[in-house]
Amino acid sequence: MAITAPRGTQDFLPEQTAEWQVLEQKIRQICSLYGFGEIRTPMFESTELFLRGIGETTDVVTKEMYTFNDRGGRSMTLRPENTASVVRAFLEHKLYGDPSVHKFYYMGPMFRHDRPQAGRYRQFTQFGVEEIGSKDPAVDAEIIAMAFQLFHELGLNDLVLHLNSVGCPKCRPIYRQKLLDFFADKKDQLCDDCKARLEKNPLRVLDCKEEGCKRAAIGVPELTDNLCDDCKEHFAKVQEYLTKIGIPFELDPRLVRGLDYYTNTAFEIMYAPLGAQSTVCGGGRYDGLIEEVGGPATPGIGFAIGMERLLLTLKEQGLMPPVPKKRPVFIVALGDASKTQAFALQQQLRSKGMYAEIDLLGRSMKGQMKSANKLNADYTVIIGEEELASGQAQVRNMETKEQVSVPLDRIVAYMETHKKG
Ligand code: ATP
Ligand code: MG
Repeated sequence: MAITAPRGTQDFLPEQTAEWQVLEQKIRQICSLYGFGEIRTPMFESTELFLRGIGETTDVVTKEMYTFNDRGGRSMTLRPENTASVVRAFLEHKLYGDPSVHKFYYMGPMFRHDRPQAGRYRQFTQFGVEEIGSKDPAVDAEIIAMAFQLFHELGLNDLVLHLNSVGCPKCRPIYRQKLLDFFADKKDQLCDDCKARLEKNPLRVLDCKEEGCKRAAIGVPELTDNLCDDCKEHFAKVQEYLTKIGIPFELDPRLVRGLDYYTNTAFEIMYAPLGAQSTVCGGGRYDGLIEEVGGPATPGIGFAIGMERLLLTLKEQGLMPPVPKKRPVFIVALGDASKTQAFALQQQLRSKGMYAEIDLLGRSMKGQMKSANKLNADYTVIIGEEELASGQAQVRNMETKEQVSVPLDRIVAYMETHKKG
C-alpha cells in the first residue's frame, strides 16, 4: 500500500508555497510597522508547560495534544499553540529584567488532534503576536488594529470583530458564583462536557455549541454587567480607542477564554462564510499567565491567526494576490562543446543575479525552444556549433522576436543592460 501523508496534514507544492510566501511577506511587513520582532521557539516542549500554560480543562489539553514519551522517558508535546512557549522563553531569558514593552511575533506549524475538515487540520500554521509588559488598553487596541490592517491590506473587509471582557481575579470569582447559582437547577440540561466544566471552569459553559446548553444559558447573568470598576474602565477605553480609529466591533458577552489567568479583553475575528471554521483570529489579554508558569507578575496580550483559514478566505473572495513569476534567460545549446559553454554562461548569469536555465533532458533545438516558452523565458541565447566557431551567440528577445548576434563574452553584459527583472 502506498504511504500517504498523515490525516489532517497537507503537502504544499512550490506553486502553493509561493502563495504562502506572499502572505508571509505581507505579515512581516505589518509586524515591522508595529515594532514586533520574530521569535522562534521549539516545535515541542515539556508537556508540563502546556498543562500549566493552556490549562488542564481546555479542549486543547484534554483532547487535542500530540503527547509522547521521548527516549529518556520525559513527556513531550508537539506545540498546540505558541503563547506558552513564548512566555517560557521570556522567563528563561529573564526578559522581565528589562521593563520595556516586549513585542514578539511568530509564524509556524502547530499540532492538534482535531477532526480534519476544510479549515481544520492536525498540523496547521499560526501567525501570532504577544505583547508583554504593559496593562495599557492602548496595547489591546493596537494589536487588534494590527490584525485589521493585515486583513484590509489583503483586501478583506467582511470580517467581524467580536469583543468581550472576561474580568479579572477580583471580579470573576463573584460572577462565577452567580453562574453556579444560575445553573444549579439546570445541570441535567447540560451536555456531559459542560457538567464537568461547571465544576472546574463554569465560564466555558457559556461558550458551548450544544443546543441544550445554549437553551439552558438563556437569561444567564452577563459577565460584562458584573465587572469591577478597573475592568469596566479598561474595557471602555479599549472600545474608545477602537471607535476612534474606525474599527467596528460587536460586543459578545458569551465570548470567553475561561482560564483564570485570562483577564480583560477577549476577542475573535470571524469570516462567516467559513461556517464552523469561521474564526480566523482569536486573542486576549493574559495578565495572570506569566505568574502561572512561574515568573514575576507581568501583563501580556496576544492573538493568533490561522493562516490556512486566512488563505481559504482570500481564495474564496478571489483576493489571493498574483504570485509574480521570474522569467529566465534560456540558453539553447546543441552539441557537447556548446553545452559546456551554455553551462558556464548559465552560471555567470546567475552569479550576476539573473535567472537562467539550460536544457537538462538532451532535447533537440525545437524541444529546447519549447522548454524556453514553457518557462516563459524573456530571452533565449542560442549557442550552436556555428556560433561556437564564430564566438558569437544568437540572442533572441522572446517578446519582440528580434534576434541579434552577440559575442559570447559580451552576453552577460548584454543581459545586464537589456533584461528586465
Ligand atoms: P476553533 O474554535 O476553530 O477550534 P480555537 O478556539 O481552538 O479554534 P485558537 O486556539 O484560538 O483556536 O487558535 C487561533 C486560531 O488558529 C483559530 O482562530 C483558527 O484560525 C486557527 N486554528 C485553530 N485550530 C485549528 C486547526 N485545527 N486547523 C486550522 N486552524 C486552526
Ligand atoms: Mg479548537
